[in-house]
Amino acid sequence: PAQLRAIALLARQWAPDYPLHATLRQDLELHGVRTEDLPLVLEGLWRAGLTTLGACGDTVRNVTLSPGNGLYEGTRDLTALAEAIEDRTRSQGWTRSLPRKFKIALSSEGDPFGAKPWINDLGLIARRDGTFCVVGAGSLGNRPATGIELYPALPAEDVMALVVAALRLFEVEGDRENRTRARLRHVRERMGDAAFCSRLDAWFQQERGRGTGAALAVPMVTRTRPAQARLRLPLGDISVEDALALADAAQRSGAELRIGLEQDLFVVGPAPVELSAELEALRHAPCVVSCPGAETCPRGIAHSREAARNLLRAMAPEPALLVAVAGCPSNCSQAAVADIGLIGRARTLNGVRTECYQIVAGGGRGETPALAVELAAAVPADCAPQVVTWMQSEYAAGASAGEDLAGFVAREKIRLSDGIRARLSGRAARASLQLA
Ligand code: SF4
Repeated sequence: PAQLRAIALLARQWAPDYPLHATLRQDLELHGVRTEDLPLVLEGLWRAGLTTLGACGDTVRNVTLSPGNGLYEGTRDLTALAEAIEDRTRSQGWTRSLPRKFKIALSSEGDPFGAKPWINDLGLIARRDGTFCVVGAGSLGNRPATGIELYPALPAEDVMALVVAALRLFEVEGDRENRTRARLRHVRERMGDAAFCSRLDAWFQQERGRGTGAALAVPMVTRTRPAQARLRLPLGDISVEDALALADAAQRSGAELRIGLEQDLFVVGPAPVELSAELEALRHAPCVVSCPGAETCPRGIAHSREAARNLLRAMAPEPALLVAVAGCPSNCSQAAVADIGLIGRARTLNGVRTECYQIVAGGGRGETPALAVELAAAVPADCAPQVVTWMQSEYAAGASAGEDLAGFVAREKIRLSDGIRARLSGRAARASLQLA
């Protein structure tokens, strides 16, 4: 709570016209800060124990940790390991000039939330026995590809050596000429999976031989204590006043606050927390995430935030589906692995340039290797709410017990595609088939 309060007070002082913005990687952004005020803002963050290191650039980005970490009996508490990885990677000067960004995520088997390991450069999933299933070399972008399994059961004491090895491999083999092919995943594609794994293992054995790493505690969680509340922030935004109210409420009940990975906040504590009516409403909001889109992003094709606003108004909170809207195929909102993804593109309909969305569905949210599959190539933006709410109601009515959306889509893909087209007319329907 103290850190959220500090950020909110900095925003009130230095960027009063903007809300705080939660990203999909557990960051809070301050928008509208004047360049000349940055030193004071950075100092304020530092005083609150916060940093902007790893927020951007060709470096190791902030290590993400499941918001459910440490809350479920039988899982592993990865707090100390995540902090050790951040400390270790930030202390190495060479990790600040990598070929491209490098993302690391940690989560535990049995934790219902997760940290989307399959779309990270390195995903570390603690197994119940204390070893780690390591996946990696995944990323989204224009040609999304989830990662591959690298080690099925790595001992905890070897995790740090593997992290350093993966970074070393990336530093040496990453493409420094072509930024569009510069992620670790592109190294894997260039080498082929088998050669990539073999090169990684050679680096790993070398680091292990050098004694990189130490016995890192990953204690088993012995008691379940689920989060008291999960607040879904519309478009990722929360006003300064609501942020201050949340910080106060959490502090009063002795709770901690965690930033989730779906533009959400978690309240974790020993007792229910009393929230204002505005904050209470966020507990029941549909889960729609969005990138900035054409409102502010120079690469934006479609106004994804406007589309997300329309979806928030139209969708029912249940069944809870993760809907992600991206303003262009770069996929920054992770639409390619969402339950339902909308990916911005433009089509000419009746002679008019029209904002459209490719509709994909059935992704594994980054918790499995599954990418969402295309159901329609291009749906006009103004038809998107109707299409998505129809898909949501079809899932509610037609899913078998316990079936997730991925299973439902795999079973009903053709019927869903036909149903979407039936909801469009004329040229829009042909655009949905990519015939326009
Ligand atoms: S998906 Fe496209 S529009 Fe959205 S933030 Fe990324 S580059 Fe910009």
